[in-house]
Amino acid sequence: MKKFKFYYPFLVSMLFLAGACSTDDDGNVTDPDDDGGTVDPPVAAQPIDLEEYSNGSGVMMQAFYWDVEPRHGWWTLLDEKVAAWADAGIDRMWLPVATKGQSGGYSMGYDVSDYFDFGEYDQHETVPTRFGAREELEDLIATAHENNIEVIADIVINHNSGGELQYNPYRDYETYTLFNEEHGNASGMFNRNYENFYPNSTSPYDDGSLFYEETNLDHNQEYVQNWLWKNENSVAKYYRNVMGFDGWRFDYVLGYEPWVVKAWLDEVGGFSVAELWDGNPAVLEKYVEDTGSGVFDFATFYKLEESLDRYEDLNGLKADMLWKTYPDKAITFTANHDTEKDENEDNRISAENKMKAYAYILTHPGYPTIFYSDYENEAFQEELNQLILIHNTIATGETQILFVDDDEYIMKRAGEGNNPGLILYLNTSGGIKARTNIATGWNSTPVMDYSGNITYTSTTSENGAVELRAPANSYAVYSIME
Ligand code: ZN
Repeated sequence: MKKFKFYYPFLVSMLFLAGACSTDDDGNVTDPDDDGGTVDPPVAAQPIDLEEYSNGSGVMMQAFYWDVEPRHGWWTLLDEKVAAWADAGIDRMWLPVATKGQSGGYSMGYDVSDYFDFGEYDQHETVPTRFGAREELEDLIATAHENNIEVIADIVINHNSGGELQYNPYRDYETYTLFNEEHGNASGMFNRNYENFYPNSTSPYDDGSLFYEETNLDHNQEYVQNWLWKNENSVAKYYRNVMGFDGWRFDYVLGYEPWVVKAWLDEVGGFSVAELWDGNPAVLEKYVEDTGSGVFDFATFYKLEESLDRYEDLNGLKADMLWKTYPDKAITFTANHDTEKDENEDNRISAENKMKAYAYILTHPGYPTIFYSDYENEAFQEELNQLILIHNTIATGETQILFVDDDEYIMKRAGEGNNPGLILYLNTSGGIKARTNIATGWNSTPVMDYSGNITYTSTTSENGAVELRAPANSYAVYSIME
């Protein structure tokens, strides 16, 4: 057992709270019978009704995982879940790429062939896409809108797949660059040939992209711009005005220049999030500034992965992340269809730490995303519902880290007006933790944990100081009682 030290904050708390708890200098509760200096709240104190508060935001659902099943039945499966998601506080859902890819009924959509075949033309050996028929997609979008959920389209405009071989004079060999009614583009809209891919007469050079180099669309071409976002029947306008999509998730934006996304958004607007797979927050910030689009906050994702799993040191959470500079443009997440693929096991947040990661993104600034497979995990769903409720109601106001060491992290959202805000207390150790003299900002007020993970309650001093506790290898989210 570590030597007991009377360091300054402890002395101060001794003055406020007679009979304060027994903890060592790393916050470990050393006497299991100790009540932690709990000051019982007044008998009449009740939990606040979280639903009386709002932070003005919901949460996005990533509505797929890699290789979803059943094939051809995904749209109808989602349709049955939408109402429950809306009740839980989901306000957007990101669908998989909705059009026909080269792999037909097996395609996850990233091998885009026909931008206008939503499961209605017989090509690549199937009429429906992997996810279903066009009519089922239209029904799903209608159901989502009835439930006030926006529908986000996954947009793949770097590379194409599934065209026919043709002689390509810019390369002097044959490339799979012919897309027309007979070859991978049955809709006949946005037919393409070698002239529309790098290199060509407009851009007589390779685009330098690592993947699919022979079938990377050249966005400098007027014809390509017209079909992607300018014309009345462009991808952007057709998706929005005919199909009813509300916003965009841009795939692999490392493969093309930021001005493309900016031009798209200038033309059609809508919620937007780009997949810029880079953990450097400065790179993400630059992209936000160049495009006006939101981006997935890979900086936060990697800091959570490092702090919870790789290095097991929560000091990592003090690092720069996109939400700290652009909270309205940081789309936070703990998992996605790529990170949860089997081959990516070293690059994901472990199941043991997943809920702590969700507690982080659902209490901090940024727009949080819930990954389908996590939400549909019976071990997680109830807890996620409570965290989403906490997010949508009291996760608001200035953010301040009150305490951090290797295994504890305490963060306050200051609230706003009559909204009390919250205090998150993460604990990655194997025992209960306690910290005295936490400056809550709530004066002479009973407090409790709204995550349901610990029953500890207390009452703050006249100055707002209180002892808080976190359950072993878990978290608590404190707010006021009334
Ligand atoms: Zn500690």
